[in-house]
Amino acid sequence: MPLTVQPIPILEDNYAWFLRDAATGTTAVADAAEVEPVAAILAREGGRLDWLLITHHHGDHIAGIPELTRRFGAKVAGAAADAHRLPPLDLALAPGDRFRLGESEASILDTPGHTRGHIAWHFPDGPAVLCGDTLFAAGCGRLLEGTAAEMFASLRALGALPGETRVCCGHEYTLANLRFARHVEPDNPALAEYAERAEAQRARGEPTVPTTIALEHAINPFLRARDAAEFAARRAAKDGFR
Ligand SMILES: [Zn+2]
Repeated sequence: MPLTVQPIPILEDNYAWFLRDAATGTTAVADAAEVEPVAAILAREGGRLDWLLITHHHGDHIAGIPELTRRFGAKVAGAAADAHRLPPLDLALAPGDRFRLGESEASILDTPGHTRGHIAWHFPDGPAVLCGDTLFAAGCGRLLEGTAAEMFASLRALGALPGETRVCCGHEYTLANLRFARHVEPDNPALAEYAERAEAQRARGEPTVPTTIALEHAINPFLRARDAAEFAARRAAKDGFR
């Protein structure tokens, strides 16, 4: 596997992601909202940080970046469309652009819905996708700046990635998402099986992520919505679900 990815639990329930291109040792951290947990991983992994990658502008995805750039000299890459509300970018990317991490290449996907300028980073060699607050394990992000139709299209784009692609998302919301997913599809056996696995992982204090695109197709009520209208109804129902 030419690209390794590992989740870094930060803040209350966020994940930053540590990436390393095996061929060159080039490293990146995505959505680095906190300094110390990231610095601790870097110390264990050789102390090198080349890039800080951003999926979207929310504070719980970017707050650690200024201090990490000072400490490690890393460069910052994010969406050109959101440059006005991101830390200063060394590399401003547009959907369709390519990004090189050593010999691993990512394509930048346009994934609006949670926020307008949200992007996802797809590394086919991982295979992995950094999808921020768009697609979660068994769930999806709230519609804070975008429409249901935009988010549905974003999820469709992520759902079109190869099934083995690891879903590297921005939060550990899995158990709450599963409660809603089982309410929507009480008779989905894949969902029941996955819920058991996720509950055991959380009981051991382990992350439930990354999942995979194939698993999300089997369990995720938002990715499984047949059309934008069904997606919109499910998203609205989830917002009021307790
Ligand atoms: Zn967010």
